[in-house]
Amino acid sequence: MFRFTLAAIVMLCGTGTAMAQPEEDFGDSRWSIAIHGGAGTINRDKITAEQDSAIRAALGSALEAGSKILKDGGSAIEAITATIIILENDPNFNAGKGAVFTWDKTNELDSSIMDGSDLSAGAVAGINGTKNPILLARAVKDNSPHVMLSGEGANQFSREQGLEQVNPDYYATPYRLEQIDKLLAKEVSAADVDYKFGTVGAVAMDKDGHMAAGTSTGGMTGKRWGRIGDSPIIGAGTYADDRSCAISATGSGEYFIRLGVAHEICARIRMRFPEAIKEAQRAVPKDADGNDTYVVHGSEFQLSDEEIQQIADDVIAELGDLGGDGGIIYATPWGQAGYSFNTAGMYRGRATSEGEQSVAIYGDE
Ligand code: ASP
Repeated sequence: MFRFTLAAIVMLCGTGTAMAQPEEDFGDSRWSIAIHGGAGTINRDKITAEQDSAIRAALGSALEAGSKILKDGGSAIEAITATIIILENDPNFNAGKGAVFTWDKTNELDSSIMDGSDLSAGAVAGINGTKNPILLARAVKDNSPHVMLSGEGANQFSREQGLEQVNPDYYATPYRLEQIDKLLAKEVSAADVDYKFGTVGAVAMDKDGHMAAGTSTGGMTGKRWGRIGDSPIIGAGTYADDRSCAISATGSGEYFIRLGVAHEICARIRMRFPEAIKEAQRAVPKDADGNDTYVVHGSEFQLSDEEIQQIADDVIAELGDLGGDGGIIYATPWGQAGYSFNTAGMYRGRATSEGEQSVAIYGDE
């Protein structure tokens, strides 16, 4: 097992000015978490007051559960797993109970999880029978030599792992049945039926500076031919790397796959970091002999909130240029937690050790 430190990155990037720090110096008491419950054309006229408050309450309790784990010193991977289980069990979201139906009126669930401390990852695609797909993704990560399992083989692995099993009708809700029936009767188009995607995800940084990300979904209503979206694909719908960020995505999966959105954002942050240190070093005042008065140290340097937001927004803008809709949540090794989306709304929430704690639905809040 290895561990990245920001100081190590500074050494690797070869500024020649930074020095390695003991690993203990990396962590502090900061933590952060961001969650989502899907993005889409979520406008006030489409959501009733009851739905609005049910969604906010669900996001609030998931956020609280994850925050408590982080506050108590738990790991990012534990925090996001617990958070996603709560959202999977809530029928308001398109994951676990409440998952959308396929063209054949079955449920095929996708999920993935990644630990940024060692880049270990697990994913499952097209599964059913497991109550909480995120636990199956986690089991693939922890207890198998593989990263991704699919279909019946993954279901079998789930049973062998002793994960809680449910009847195939467990996932069904009247709302999702109505959606697929309308789609099959051609009363609505696929785009209309999935106006809000409803996938769930969580990203976090724990007090040791470790990052984790996870995503869980039923996919797209009416999907067929074994279609798999971005959610179980490491690098597209989910990515975590202690050197840069943790990302979970939601939206039109095909576009997220094509851009490799989750990895793309993390890679841009990772590559921007040493550049930003060099720039900061160049701006340091000189003494009478023309030497820098101090050394900008990687362990004390961070990308600004604005810079992180810009990187995320740039990638989501490229997604939009391709024709894709949706958004992402992010957490960074510097304690930032936020979102970027190009849809009217996104079910979302974030909490940090610095006192941030909020849930939101619409784009203008
Ligand atoms: N991204 C998911 C998929 O394409 C859908 C969603 O976010 O709701 O399967």
